[in-house]
Amino acid sequence: MPTYRAPRGTRDLLPTETPTWTRLERLAADLAARYGYRRIETPLFEQTDVFERGIGEVTDVVEKELFRLAPRTEESESWVLRPEPTAGIVRAYVQHGMRTWPQPVKVTQTGPMFRYDRPQAGRYRQFWQFDVEAIGDPGPAVDAEIIELGTRFYREAGLDGVEVLLNSIGDAACRPAYVAELTAYYEPHRVALPAIERGRLDRNVLRLLDSKDPAMAGLNANAPRMTERLCADCAEHFAAVRAHLDALGVGYRLEPGLVRGLDYYTRTAFEFYLVGREGQQQAIGGGGRYDGLVELLGGRPTPAIGFGIGLDRLILALTETAQAVPSEAGPTAVVVGADPDDTIARLRVVTQLRAAGVGSRAELGRRKLGKQLEAAARDGAHFAVILGDELADGNVGLRDLPAGTQKVVALADLAREIERAHAAHRHGGGPD
Ligand code: AMP
Repeated sequence: MPTYRAPRGTRDLLPTETPTWTRLERLAADLAARYGYRRIETPLFEQTDVFERGIGEVTDVVEKELFRLAPRTEESESWVLRPEPTAGIVRAYVQHGMRTWPQPVKVTQTGPMFRYDRPQAGRYRQFWQFDVEAIGDPGPAVDAEIIELGTRFYREAGLDGVEVLLNSIGDAACRPAYVAELTAYYEPHRVALPAIERGRLDRNVLRLLDSKDPAMAGLNANAPRMTERLCADCAEHFAAVRAHLDALGVGYRLEPGLVRGLDYYTRTAFEFYLVGREGQQQAIGGGGRYDGLVELLGGRPTPAIGFGIGLDRLILALTETAQAVPSEAGPTAVVVGADPDDTIARLRVVTQLRAAGVGSRAELGRRKLGKQLEAAARDGAHFAVILGDELADGNVGLRDLPAGTQKVVALADLAREIERAHAAHRHGGGPD
């Protein structure tokens, strides 16, 4: 038999791990709702052009990391799995005429993204992002609001040591001159540049600034800075974003090398960094303003801003700091029976409990009562419901497992009795 494995760069999330995921997904949804973001879901794949136009062809994501879907026929459209959520959401904004809705349109999504990247610790080919987008607001206040939302997400998730890196990368008015200046700055060093960076010099010189190659550190430290060359409008915007962050008490570090990998960003660019971690895994989220993207994808010029927070790396960090949530608690009640063969009675009683909203399971195997009770205790159940002779009179035994007490309860009162005692126990009243 062949041995089957999850594809390289993907993982199975086992029930032992999913409680942490569920907690973060709920937090993401609750927090986004608290800030007025409404849920949107877009397809996991889109027309290739949405990303090639939207993200820009001279980015790693498009050049090397797109997961292309093989067309079934010659005429098929070309599709790719989404490497990031923004372009798909903007495509939906344009397609559904959301510019006629009250602006900004504030939407959120949490789901898997796909990049054909070289897998390593904290870098997967399928990973999850919590994403928020505010489309139709030029800022600067919303820029600060969204950054504050990101920091709150980490804080409420229980992660300390998250730093906000902030930059402005200008706009169509001031960036071209800066790009020319930057090219002229690196040009004399062309032959000395690492091969990858030499390629970028011709195609997307901004990317040199966020090179992770140590050989670039000296050169990059002295490179001209965008923030010193912003046009008046961009400079005013950037100052106002900082003033709003200051007023909210959100700390940040100005990082002139922060350009983000995606072409569609304008003005505000930010990243959430985890202090004290290595390389790639430090980047736990990021976002920025993308005032040009709606137009690029066929809409009218529309300012917008958003972020994507990687859940995989966040969970890795939480696990290391022992913030992971233990496996979910077992069932409230387990229905067991003195007659090993009477699975019908057990299934009927457990069905009745579930219909009344009690999380419960029944022993459906033909084990002896003692074994059934042992398994119930191992599950961490609060109650064992014991079906015996008194069932003929409509009664069952209700055993409080942690307390070690037992009483007879009418079947008709069972669910109510369990809920009352369970609630008292949960609220610290102890078993009654
Ligand atoms: P990006 O759009 O590249 O800025 O990604 C936003 C966030 O998604 C990053 O800060 C990471 O937390 C996460 N992320 C990006 N790529 C990957 C990947 N291949 N594996 C796991 N997480 C990733």
